[in-house]
Amino acid sequence: MCGIVAYLGKKVAQPILIEGLKRLEYRGYDSAGLALLSSPPNGGIKINKTSGRISALEGILDGLDNKESLGIGHTRWATHGEPNTVNAHPHLDYTGKIAVVHNGIIENYGTLKTWLQNEGAAFASETDTEVIANLIGYFYAGADQAGGAEISAGRNKFEWAVQRTLQELHGTFGLAILCSDFPDMLIGAKKGSPLILGLGDNEYILASDAAAIVEHTTQAIYLSDNEMVTVTPKEFHTKTIDNITVSKDLEQIEFSLEQIELGGFEHHMLKEIFEQPDCLSTCMGGRIDNKGHRIRLGGIDSHLRELTHTKRLILTACGTAFHAGLVGEFLFERLARIPTETEYASEFRYRNPIIEDGTVVISISQSGETADTLAAIEQAKERGATVLGLVNVVGSSIARTTDAGIYLHVGPEIGVASTKAFTAQVAVLSMLAIELGRRRHISSNQADMYIDELAQIPRKISRILEQSDHIKKIASANIDKDNWLFLGRGFNYPVALEGALKLKEISYIHAEGLPAAEMKHGPIALIVDGMPSVFIATAGPQYDKIMGNIAEVRARGGKTIVVATEGDENIKQHADHLVTIPDAPELLQPMLTVVPLQLLAYHAAVLRGHDVDKPRNLAKSVTVE
Ligand code: GLU
Repeated sequence: MCGIVAYLGKKVAQPILIEGLKRLEYRGYDSAGLALLSSPPNGGIKINKTSGRISALEGILDGLDNKESLGIGHTRWATHGEPNTVNAHPHLDYTGKIAVVHNGIIENYGTLKTWLQNEGAAFASETDTEVIANLIGYFYAGADQAGGAEISAGRNKFEWAVQRTLQELHGTFGLAILCSDFPDMLIGAKKGSPLILGLGDNEYILASDAAAIVEHTTQAIYLSDNEMVTVTPKEFHTKTIDNITVSKDLEQIEFSLEQIELGGFEHHMLKEIFEQPDCLSTCMGGRIDNKGHRIRLGGIDSHLRELTHTKRLILTACGTAFHAGLVGEFLFERLARIPTETEYASEFRYRNPIIEDGTVVISISQSGETADTLAAIEQAKERGATVLGLVNVVGSSIARTTDAGIYLHVGPEIGVASTKAFTAQVAVLSMLAIELGRRRHISSNQADMYIDELAQIPRKISRILEQSDHIKKIASANIDKDNWLFLGRGFNYPVALEGALKLKEISYIHAEGLPAAEMKHGPIALIVDGMPSVFIATAGPQYDKIMGNIAEVRARGGKTIVVATEGDENIKQHADHLVTIPDAPELLQPMLTVVPLQLLAYHAAVLRGHDVDKPRNLAKSVTVE
């Protein structure tokens, strides 16, 4: 969460920083700010910040003639202190020389703050970040004495003070830092939050996300944890925070500007919903050879044997990715007969998990930066498990920390509510389960049939998307209802959870997702006249059972919105509103049944007048625990 962007080059920094912040706004949008630095005689650090969106910041900057070519910017997702102007970043230290933008949480900020206050440092904000600025300022002020021989031998004082500070911090940080005594130097550092340095033509862009860089350059280096970078107009160098030089590979940013623009759609979320047929074709293309009926998952080739013989799989993820993991659990158990469990990453870490020999952990995260998932990976690795990653963002922390992995290859997902990443996560898990199934349990003929069916999923999603206007009418007919249920069975139970989550996160409508049979064990008490219940009642072994659940809701005056299979005439009399999906085997249906629920949530949010791409209190890429 939160977006950081910094610029050092020959151009005027302010418009570049603002443009970068707009590209990162999906990561946080409760306040924003810039610090600009120039050389004497008119030098010094200038800070402009405000609560609200980047547009509010632009309003403040309007009419100012800022010509500096070095600056740092931030769009915040508050963790410590309300989202007001004082708490907005950048934060200036008590000496006025150091400016900092920060992504992450400093867990020991309370102790450090008390200590610094006793040393005479004043604090203006309630943030944990200000501790970083003040600590750098404190060390910097005393560097000549404390840095001793190293500083007198010409070691850079600013860099030394940053390193001393980072050694004291517990928690996570992505940082961009300026010092007014070094008007041509920018320092970045990372632990647990992403940071990328884009290398342009005589210019550098440091950012928490490639989206802010790609307009300027596609050449970049990705910092690893406990590393820092010092940038000057002529060069940059990378070190650990303990001052050991590290050399970094130059990498290519793989996506283009078009992929992060709206391209005629009103919102990124809608664009991403409609991209799903193409995204899934890309995700599966090259991996499925449906003539030869083979699945090739290059990234995990070297672990395929281990996976085939694994005794147990643990899938760990958060939010939407957790729901994809649940579908995966059902797939691995059904097709490959591998005992599998899906765990919330945030819980897994703290429950002293039992990891026996032969357990493989698969961690799933769109951004590849989810802090809870990273912490779960650390746990699993400490206990000797092989950990595989299933992520979308190439080069992300999870991609780097896991033993091997599979990329989703669906391009950047900007909408805070995840859509195309979910279907691609399920597609990848389906491919893996079919391949392991062929090696362990199902016949080659069955595997071939599933491969053929999988290849048809993108085309079938396109057919569902044609019903978008119809789904909008359903949303409109129920838009005044404040409580909804989402019910499904078997493979569609995780989809019910995902449908409810989508509605909650962007429409702010209270919704619960449940396995349909659980309704009678309690939630049926919620049904009142006209309350909408969304049922996934597609063709499959549980069809008759779910028809019973639909009847139970209708008998109590509830309204039913039913997702059913095309050609099901019987369902019409049981549904107040009907959406259809093309027929598909039960275990591949989640990639289809979720699409109407994504559209339902989208249209409901728009009808309620919400900012779909920037929902209240949320931000993308959850880099805090
Ligand atoms: N913990 C910091 C704050 O609350 C940074 C939050 C962020 O990552 O946006 O200001």
